[in-house]
Amino acid sequence: MLTSQTQDAWALFLDCMEERCSSVEFANWFAPIQKIDRHPDRTTLEVPNIFVQEYLLDNYKEDLALFFPLTPSGDLSIEFVIAKQSPRIQEAPSPITAPLPEPVIKDSFQLNSLYNFENFIEGPSNQFVKSAALGVAMRPGKSYNPLFIHGGVGLGKTHLLHAVGHYVKNNHPKLRIHCITTEGFINDLVENLRNKTLDKMKRFYRSLDVLLVDDIQFLQNRMNFEEEFCNTFESLIHQNKQIIITSDKPPGQLNLSERLTARMEWGLVANIGIPDLETRVAILQYKAEQKGIRLPQKIAFFIAEHIYNNVRQLEGAINRLSAHSKMLGLDVTEESVERTLSELFQLSPSKKVSVENILRSVSLIFEVKISDLKGDCRSKDIAFPRQVAMYLAKELINDSLMKLSSAFGGKTHSTLLHAWKKISGQIEQDETLRRRIDMAKRNLEA
Ligand code: ADP
Ligand code: MG
Repeated sequence: MLTSQTQDAWALFLDCMEERCSSVEFANWFAPIQKIDRHPDRTTLEVPNIFVQEYLLDNYKEDLALFFPLTPSGDLSIEFVIAKQSPRIQEAPSPITAPLPEPVIKDSFQLNSLYNFENFIEGPSNQFVKSAALGVAMRPGKSYNPLFIHGGVGLGKTHLLHAVGHYVKNNHPKLRIHCITTEGFINDLVENLRNKTLDKMKRFYRSLDVLLVDDIQFLQNRMNFEEEFCNTFESLIHQNKQIIITSDKPPGQLNLSERLTARMEWGLVANIGIPDLETRVAILQYKAEQKGIRLPQKIAFFIAEHIYNNVRQLEGAINRLSAHSKMLGLDVTEESVERTLSELFQLSPSKKVSVENILRSVSLIFEVKISDLKGDCRSKDIAFPRQVAMYLAKELINDSLMKLSSAFGGKTHSTLLHAWKKISGQIEQDETLRRRIDMAKRNLEA
């Protein structure tokens, strides 16, 4: 139990910060911190990642000291613990101390005005990368450098990159910033080579304070361009200028030189993952609200269950629904959704399904460990998903019951048969279960 004194201290500190910070800053840095009960005389704060802890201590230590007593050695009497599922963080280079130069070149790049931090919906799959991007935007060159963001198509990489661009433009107007796609960089190079103005281009790039590079995967197999990019990169990094790069793969999986790969791994490599069901629903609801259409929660879930690995497609779904419902003047219903969005719901071609795939999919959807699914625990939370996995195995894999059941940690074929019968019966009556099983099947196709 916390004493009322420490409890009040954290609440008072939060009140004070809420007044002082912008709502974005507060939502990103303070709201995710949970106070947990561990010691009677010390506050324990659970932070989503070490990045948030460092940010708090770097920027608000003095403020914290006004609310929390100091230990005899002068440290804050606060204990930090990192919440589970915290991604790995690499060490940050030391901050810069030199004053920032005045801008001399007026850049002209295009940032999508809709891609900002305020309208980026957070969930467990992107929270970390968003706070890293915001941290870098707030203190360019002083935290993680480079910041390398990787993830699949349509998951918000470009959105975050441009959000950094907007933030820096608005909050650090003196900094020279340039946002470019890798294709754009290559085109620039080609043009400047042709015009014999390469030196000018080099000077321009090397005088930037913040360079945002989208889709670095397009630099693969383009040796000459890669070298020039790598030189620019090194020149900026050595001056502690901020670089942010996006890519569809992590650095080590790109077909680029060892030199550039190593450089890109210097700072923080952060993954942007596929949003979970709740986040997809939140994204759909937000986008529907923007479009001014009423989207009942049940239907938002229905769409989110069918479109599961790409935020751009979620947006596309809302755009279509919006067009249809406005054109016909009708409300959005489950039937109209199925009719309007059936193409988006189409499955990718079937892959060969294995028991391992099924276990992975079921473990994700029911939030249990694969090892538990294979184990002997009989608690309902685990035994039920295990039965679902067995049901799916029998439904989807054309193998003997004996062979299938042995893949579940050596169960008997009658256990598997029993599970299949039970779930087959239940699926008829239980709509939620049917949906979850559909989802597990779709995940297998993804
Ligand atoms: P990527 O660059 O990873 O392929 P984008 O950044 O272009 O993806 O995102 C695709 C679309 O989805 C954009 O319109 C973007 O605004 C939207 N989007 C992606 N993630 C989110 C999110 N978390 N919240 C709101 N919109 C998002
Ligand atoms: Mg992109």
